Amino acid sequence: MSTTSSADKGSNPNKKLEVRCPSCGTMHTYSTDNPYRPFCSKGCKAIDLGAWASESYRVEAKPTTEDLRDDPST
Ligand SMILES: [Zn+2]
Repeated sequence: MSTTSSADKGSNPNKKLEVRCPSCGTMHTYSTDNPYRPFCSKGCKAIDLGAWASESYRVEAKPTTEDLRDDPST
């Protein structure tokens, strides 16, 4: 019976998880010490948030209140 590999299986707290940065695609180590995870850096997070924000702006192109607004100057 071989149990040599049993120690490597299961929970391995020292295992490093490589993830791909959603912004630039760079593989980097996912760490809870990284406040910008899953991004590789602060810049990438800012870029992605900016893209997401502008994207949501377009998605949220719902009818404005302009139709309901009564302009007294007219
Ligand atoms: Zn990145």
